Amino acid sequence: MGNGVCSHLAAISAIRQAQRRECEECVKIGARWVHLRTCQECGTTRCCDTSPNQHASKHARESGHPVIASSEPGERWLYCYPDDALVEY
Ligand SMILES: [Zn+2]
Ligand SMILES: [Zn+2]
Ligand SMILES: [Zn+2]
Repeated sequence: MGNGVCSHLAAISAIRQAQRRECEECVKIGARWVHLRTCQECGTTRCCDTSPNQHASKHARESGHPVIASSEPGERWLYCYPDDALVEY
């Protein structure tokens, strides 16, 4: 854990926001989610690690896309999985 900004976070110039306020994987299986996160590489929106299915971190592991943004209203932060780095914007 640290406050340093990794190369992945440093490379983000424009934040990708959620296109739809839903986890596309949960919708397919009729599951519920708690919070939403948007992948900064491909723009897909999936559910957080507090959600039962943790689709955002699964997506990060499977795709290798490192950075998500919170899709929650009023939350303005980015998180990098491989570096466990969080930055507010
Ligand atoms: Zn990183
Ligand atoms: Zn989900
Ligand atoms: Zn992605």
